[in-house]
Amino acid sequence: MLAARFHTAGQPLSLDEVPVPVPGPDEVRVRVRAAGVCGTELHFTEGLYAPSTVPMTLGHEAAGTVDAIGSDVTGWAEGDRVAVFYYLFCGSCRWCLRGRQNLCLAPRGVLAFAADGAFAEHVVVPAHCLVRLPDTLSFEQAAPLCCAGTTALHALTEADVAPGEVVVVMGTGGVGLAVVQDARRRGAVVIGVSRDAARREAALTAGAAVAVSPEDLQTAVERLSTGQGADVVVELAGVDATLELSVAVLGKRGRLVLVGYSADQLTVSPLLLVVAEQRIIASVGNTYAELVDAVHLASTGQLLPPVVQTLPLRDVNVALDRLRAGEAAGRIVLLP
Ligand SMILES: [Zn+2]
Ligand SMILES: [Zn+2]
Repeated sequence: MLAARFHTAGQPLSLDEVPVPVPGPDEVRVRVRAAGVCGTELHFTEGLYAPSTVPMTLGHEAAGTVDAIGSDVTGWAEGDRVAVFYYLFCGSCRWCLRGRQNLCLAPRGVLAFAADGAFAEHVVVPAHCLVRLPDTLSFEQAAPLCCAGTTALHALTEADVAPGEVVVVMGTGGVGLAVVQDARRRGAVVIGVSRDAARREAALTAGAAVAVSPEDLQTAVERLSTGQGADVVVELAGVDATLELSVAVLGKRGRLVLVGYSADQLTVSPLLLVVAEQRIIASVGNTYAELVDAVHLASTGQLLPPVVQTLPLRDVNVALDRLRAGEAAGRIVLLP
């Protein structure tokens, strides 16, 4: 089968012919019908971090159909339509037992990080990582739920967003637009922030009250919060300039939610945090239950991360180039 694989940082992904994987006793093989292209892909190609082994098939947003089933698996049949939870959790450690699969102590792997991912015609995962898709949801719509949609749900749940609160979404790319949608669904007043006009436009379409460039953020926050500052800032860029701005616009009891990151550091004054009772929250990935929720919300039209383009798997490097250039105002989805 064809697979888009990471070999070395700084190089395009290589389109390799690899054997079709065979599922173990408690695993299933999914024929990938759609695979979203996430900003995380660029962290590999730019060398911010490396997969556990190379070469590694990238892609962690996968939707498709079950096409082979391990001998011990029950409840799934060939042809079932599924989304894949990319964190291949163990199901029995203390964090899995608390429903925090994103913190699993003994994952079997993580698609694209430590297990071959979804930029391929097939992917093999433990059966407990599947979520059933309703017929009403297309594979192209479902794939971006697996990271973008669920990461948004997780971040806003961790921030405990309440109706009427002012939520700043710092960076309205694939995940950011899902954050805008879900913050709006929770009744928040949303401010989208992007340097890119198309991404600002996309934020407005997704439900933001206003969408501004970083230079105009402070004025927008003052206006929409009547001078009180933002209740929540969801930080998706994680670079010096935006981190500094995020801290600056936060109001009393404001929550800064770190989702995106780079090699840059966050500097805060404990004094200013303490006197305003502000909190810094980190949010990584999402839980299995949140993928179930995201599929439900999407199938009822309440959460649909925008897909801006679909491309054949062979064009994976075109997709990565567009993402790197900041040209994608939403998800690009590959069709293996
Ligand atoms: Zn992702
Ligand atoms: Zn676990």
